[in-house]
This record gives sequence, C-alpha cells and structure tokens, in this order.
Amino acid sequence: MSRIVYVNGDFVTEDEAKISVFDRGFLFADGIYEVSSILEGRLIDNAAHLARLKRSADELKLDLPMSTDDIEKAMLELLEKNGVHEGALYLQVTRGAADRDFGFPVDAKPSLVMFTQEKNLINSPAAEKGIAVISVDDIRWGRRDIKTVQLLAPVLAKQAAVEAGANDAWLVEEGFVTEGSSNNAYIVKDGVIITRHLSNSILHGITRAAVLKLVEQEGLKLEERPFTMQEAYEADEAFVTSATTFVWPVVKIDDAVMSNGAPGEISMKLRKLYIEEALKR
Ligand code: PMP
Repeated sequence: MSRIVYVNGDFVTEDEAKISVFDRGFLFADGIYEVSSILEGRLIDNAAHLARLKRSADELKLDLPMSTDDIEKAMLELLEKNGVHEGALYLQVTRGAADRDFGFPVDAKPSLVMFTQEKNLINSPAAEKGIAVISVDDIRWGRRDIKTVQLLAPVLAKQAAVEAGANDAWLVEEGFVTEGSSNNAYIVKDGVIITRHLSNSILHGITRAAVLKLVEQEGLKLEERPFTMQEAYEADEAFVTSATTFVWPVVKIDDAVMSNGAPGEISMKLRKLYIEEALKR
C-alpha cells in the first residue's frame, strides 16, 4: 500500500513525505489535529471539524498555514487522489520547525500534513458485538477542549485496556467519568441518556453534537452532567461516540456486564439514525 499524503502544499508518496526533526509537533507536541470520517467517498461533518480546528488553533495562538476553505480543498484533492470510499482523513497542524526553545518561534512556518486511512466504519464487529471498557485515572492536562497531538495519556489508557483484555478505557477524574480515551462516553438509565456536559474537561465531540441532535429529534430524554463509575456499572446501556466509530455500544464496564452483554436498544437506534443522516448529506 502506498498512499499519497499531503505535506505542506505537496502531494507525495509516503516514502517521499518528510517533516523536520526540529518540528515543534515532534519536539513539544505543539500541534493540533482533526479526524474526519469518509463515507461513500465523502467527508462527513467536515465543516464542523474545520471549525473546531480553527478554534483549537486560536486557543493555542497558532496560525493555520492557510484558510479553512483552502484546507478543505486540499482535503478533497487528497481524498480524490487516494480514492478512499470508507475510512478517515487525518489532518495535523503544528507550530512548525525552529531551533529548540520553549517560547513561540518568531518566524517558523506552521506545518500541515494529511493522510487517509481505509477502514470499514459501517460494518464493524465492535458495532455489532459492543465493546468492553475499563476505568482508568484521567491524568491529562486541563484543556481537553483543545484537540492537541499530546496524546500520551490516552495512549497509556488504551494500552492498559488492551492488556486487561478490553477494547477501550473510560477516564475518571474526582470520581466522575470525563470521556473515553478517544471518544465521548454515555450511559442510559431508565430511558434517560446521560453524558458529561461540555467544558474544558472534555473534547467537544463533533459526533456528540450530531448524536445529541438526533436525541432531541427523537424526543429521547437527555441529562448533560457528570456521572460516576457506580452509575455506569448500574446503567441499562452505555455507548461511545467519535468520528470513526459513530456510535459503538458498550457491553461491559470493568466487571459490570450491560444488558446481558448485548448492545443496548437506544445505542443501536442512535447508531442507525446517525449513519442514515450521515449518508444523506
Ligand atoms: N473525546 C476525545 C478525547 C477524543 O479523542 C475524541 C475523538 N477525537 C472524541 C472525544 C470524539 O470527538 P469526535 O466526535 O469529534 O471525533
């Protein structure tokens, strides 16, 4: 497999793609990213992903190398060059290459790289069977609303899950679930969907926003508030959302098995509605 990837204005093969060892993304994780899903060769909810990219950049006083309209044009060109039907497009912007010094460099040019990944998003075993999650301490920094590439805490959380024979980890802070290692987390109790409210403690998921719109359209009950692991253990259903999973049912949380180990009804309904809606656009 040799993909065409995008590096600072050029479309090149993977082995031709190069970034400086002085790039601040590499040295300081001084960068941000987005992942947009691809269905039927089209980017899903891309305007919302680009708006969040711009917000992340502004919060870090990082100049995007070009307008979000031009970034979108490059995304579409990359998509076309790789002919991806279903999968994801990853995009990263860093503060660029400069001699190593903590403060912002005066004249560095921001770096922009992008690549595509083919993946079955609709027909995924995780969606059919549901996933198992474990709880781990949330040891991340205080600005999780900014989508930065400093992902070591989620990497360790996910690895702990894999080593425990689970699929993912839910992050817990002061007794409450913040979110999943790379997704937003939800429980359902007595027909009420509960998910943490937006703040600097979690990423403002693009899929979360789309799913909550469906929740409203369907007249389902919603509470946006923190929930404890104990509530999670006693929930009727649980699920996670993200751009590349859409809605994945959770069937086990630590040692607690949800709805006899089968995906919950509300979770599967929201997954179905989300996919239908995404395919329409
Ligand atoms: N929370 C975290 C920590 C994430 O990494 C992600 C996925 N990037 C999400 C939530 C879900 O966000 P989205 O729906 O925009 O993919």
